Amino acid sequence: MSAGQGSVDIDCVVVGAGVVGLAVAWALALSGREVIVLEAGEGIGTGISSRNSEVIHAGIYYPSGSLKAQLCVEGKHRLYAYCDERGISHQRLGKLIVATDDAQRSALQGLLEQGLRNGVDDLQWLDAAQAQQLEPALSCVAALWSPSTGIIDSHGLMLALQGDLVACGGSLALHSPLLSARCIDQGFELHVGGSEPMTLSCRELINCAGLSAPEVASRIAGLPAQHIPPAWLCKGSYFSFSGRAPFRHLVYPAPESAGLGVHMTLDLGGQARFGPDVEWVDAQDYRVDPARADGFYAAIRRYWPGLPDNSLQPAYSGIRPKISGPGEPAADFRISGPVEHGVAGLVNLFGIESPGLTSCLALAERVLDALTR
Ligand SMILES: Cc1cc2nc3c(=O)[nH]c(=O)nc-3n(C[C@H](O)[C@H](O)[C@H](O)COP(=O)(O)OP(=O)(O)OC[C@H]3O[C@@H](n4cnc5c(N)ncnc54)[C@H](O)[C@@H]3O)c2cc1C
Repeated sequence: MSAGQGSVDIDCVVVGAGVVGLAVAWALALSGREVIVLEAGEGIGTGISSRNSEVIHAGIYYPSGSLKAQLCVEGKHRLYAYCDERGISHQRLGKLIVATDDAQRSALQGLLEQGLRNGVDDLQWLDAAQAQQLEPALSCVAALWSPSTGIIDSHGLMLALQGDLVACGGSLALHSPLLSARCIDQGFELHVGGSEPMTLSCRELINCAGLSAPEVASRIAGLPAQHIPPAWLCKGSYFSFSGRAPFRHLVYPAPESAGLGVHMTLDLGGQARFGPDVEWVDAQDYRVDPARADGFYAAIRRYWPGLPDNSLQPAYSGIRPKISGPGEPAADFRISGPVEHGVAGLVNLFGIESPGLTSCLALAERVLDALTR
């Protein structure tokens, strides 16, 4: 890194210190680049990465050949290995996806086949009796058992990634929002705000700004506007369950259009929570409306009729960074590099919704590929 008059030159700048930005920054630092991560917030992982289900997904749901399918399956294997290496808390609990009426059997059969096409070859079909043997409180006509689904301490993961980044010589600047950028000869000039505004120049710029990724891209002078997708916000609220967890494994319904359905996950302390539901919103407001509980009771009682009245409390919410709107088919992850938009050294990551946490290590490798293609 070299400092001139009020300006700093560096190989590579990553915008955003969520799980994806940190994984990307570590991969870039490992490849020998000098890397700085600019984060607008006061700490790592204050965005989508700390407002999700913390599930390590198996890779079942996504269309064959999509980035979501490839990177989830690849990312899951890499993430379990990384957790073992670095001692990050996680549990390979397994999950049941349930059909609660005969009409949903075909959806479950479709998931089994989709999973196989995606390389998820450990799924098992269970009849109602077999499912209830695993989970006596469950009501269903059939279920799919996914043994490779698990849960993870997402903040522990981000701390490990940050540690690895720093160990490779990378650095992190908090309270440092990227305000604007412009293409210059062989790179970019960046204007960074915060309490100590600065100008940076870099050879490579990676936009991992999560919900703000389209907005950040729109502030890069020289990037044609047709390469920036629309930003849609899709909120998901969670409710916690006050009593003893009804299930030992994760339980998911047959999936809905914009999400995977109101499911039951467990945190690493064994506490049950339900969510997320689907609500298209215009602004980033994370308050959980207690009135949404009505929809939760109805959805959960389809697979757990024993859910007691008044047992759910508003917990937290997250917002999915969608790039396709209500009623449109779900978009794939979009890794937009020089081959797509023509600007050398720039990669924008758009639409990194679920399974982005599971996929983070695999996504990071693809960013490296996009820079060298
Ligand atoms: C409700 C919900 C449930 C989910 N459940 C799962 C799950 O169980 N399993 C799974 O695999 N995935 C899940 N996901 C997806 C996963 O959480 C995300 O894919 C992942 O966290 C995205 O990480 P990120 O680093 O891209 O974004 P973020 O974590 O949002 O990080 C982006 C960062 O960029 C910063 N930033 C923004 N603008 C600027 C700027 N101008 N300058 C500097 N910094 C800036 C922000 O402050 C933020 O810290 C879920 C998502 C949601 C919403």
